[in-house]
Amino acid sequence: MALVRTCLSKILSHRTRNPFLSYLSPPPLTLSLPRIHSFTLSASLSTSHTTRFKPICLYHSQGKCTKMDDLIHLEKFNHDSSRELQVNISELNKIRSQNLDFFLILDLEGKVEILEFPVLMISAKTLQVEGIFHRFVRPSNMSEQRINEYIEGKYGKFGVDRVWHDTAIPFKEVIEEFEAWLMQQKLWIGGELNRAAFVTCGNWDLKTKVPQQCEVSRIKLPPYFMEWINLKDVYLNFYNRRATGMVTMMKELQIPLVGRHHLGIDDTKNIARVLQHMLVDGALIQITARRNPRSPRDVNFLFKNRI
Ligand SMILES: [Zn+2]
Repeated sequence: MALVRTCLSKILSHRTRNPFLSYLSPPPLTLSLPRIHSFTLSASLSTSHTTRFKPICLYHSQGKCTKMDDLIHLEKFNHDSSRELQVNISELNKIRSQNLDFFLILDLEGKVEILEFPVLMISAKTLQVEGIFHRFVRPSNMSEQRINEYIEGKYGKFGVDRVWHDTAIPFKEVIEEFEAWLMQQKLWIGGELNRAAFVTCGNWDLKTKVPQQCEVSRIKLPPYFMEWINLKDVYLNFYNRRATGMVTMMKELQIPLVGRHHLGIDDTKNIARVLQHMLVDGALIQITARRNPRSPRDVNFLFKNRI
């Protein structure tokens, strides 16, 4: 009962403070309900709150689901990348005019080599999910045995190691497919991105990891990775508060964490929710880091106050 109460009060306080974000699908409750009903309602709300999360179909997110006519599969897994990312239309007028049309939220997984490359495309005007690109990545410089151990340790705990083994492709192929996707979305025709920018949580993904993986995979650093937005820097300058990571930003903005933290595709959705929140709060989301075109290893940071 106490737990249920706490849960309900958290949900209610979240709804009250963030009325524009409809992450929680049940209709608003009033606090003036009779006590006896309040328990029944809070219990069912609490249940729906815990059961509502539907894991994303990791075959579908990669364009590889073959069970779209299997009702049990559809009931068990989420096939809609915009789920839990709906924003109330009446709040869109609070958004400042941005210099970009689209944000590409990227959150790589894998410390030794990249294991997952998820990108969520969000419109800067409607805040809607306009596209998704997601691939599991097979390391190119590792023995089979080491890969198996690595994947077991990383994805076994989420129960998604099987889908990883079924679908992972080498980074070089991921990049080729990503470029085809960028072109299809009219975001890129060579050179820099067109009216779009990557949004990451920290600089590690694009400053460090992508160039490292390009070396290991023996490909040139693609030109669209020359600049990016570190959301933590924008957060610091907008709210005047230092956040060490995604979870801290979410706690401070009272956004509930959805999905499995450190499953890349779920993390991009959580970062997207922080971004949506900041946009509705009136933030201008600008480029924070840019590589020197003559010496791409050198990165210039564009904000004076940085995390
Ligand atoms: Zn599926």
